[in-house]
Amino acid sequence: MKYFGAHVSAAGGLINAPRNAHAIGAGAFALFTKNQRQWLAPALTEADIEAFRTECERLGYKPFQILPHDSYLINLGHPDEEGLAKSRESFVEEMRRCQLLGLDRLNFHPGSHLGRIDIDRSLDRVAESINIALERTEGVTAVIENTAGQGTNLGHTFEQIAHIIDRVEDKSRVGYCIDTCHAFAAGYDLSSREACESTFAKIDSIISLDYLRGMHLNEAMRPLGSRIDRHERLGHGQIGWECFEYIARNPRFDNMPLVLETIDESLWSSEIATLYQLAGEQK
Ligand SMILES: [Zn+2]
Ligand SMILES: [Zn+2]
Repeated sequence: MKYFGAHVSAAGGLINAPRNAHAIGAGAFALFTKNQRQWLAPALTEADIEAFRTECERLGYKPFQILPHDSYLINLGHPDEEGLAKSRESFVEEMRRCQLLGLDRLNFHPGSHLGRIDIDRSLDRVAESINIALERTEGVTAVIENTAGQGTNLGHTFEQIAHIIDRVEDKSRVGYCIDTCHAFAAGYDLSSREACESTFAKIDSIISLDYLRGMHLNEAMRPLGSRIDRHERLGHGQIGWECFEYIARNPRFDNMPLVLETIDESLWSSEIATLYQLAGEQK
């Protein structure tokens, strides 16, 4: 089965995330479990945790349908010891929050080398950061997101993601998420069914689709290989509906959160409905 949804707001309390998802007919959702632009957050209370878990259960969202995203400040491949330590601490905290909330995966951008260390050394640091976080938590999978490759961001090639996963000790708790806009911006064509087949075959041979734990279904505003991360409304960008139809109809993308992060929230319910239609499924 397919589980389409969107990155919904948790403003006013985490309990609002499943409610907002339900309101737009989503079968999956993404959320920030804390303010994504701040390092620190108040600890989750027993009441917050209980309310979130109960609401997810009531509205039919199981952990595999939910893809929490970590803070944008975290850089697990940081070239400086201080920045690296702070990022690692914060990442462990984010993983712990997921664990407390009963969630089974955490989506994050691998990080940036900032032009100060070799790409490979920075990637090694990301892998080491994941090892540390997995050792200090239980039951939560670290889900690496591919990036558009803006600036010094890591993770825009499938080889870089494979490099990280190769160095993670507990392979049962590492995975990745493919963002269609980021892949396209990084130079992987997705603008036709044939292009999708070849790009996903490449992903499978370089990283293995067995580690895929979710997708971000985003349109790209900029052309193939632009390395610029600008999302667009589905079907109104350079990728086109054929890609989203390919994903909707392909059983390899069953049973994982397929999440919209498109720019116009008011379109989410209709985009989700169209995706379910393309999949030939009723939500
Ligand atoms: Zn994304
Ligand atoms: Zn993006």
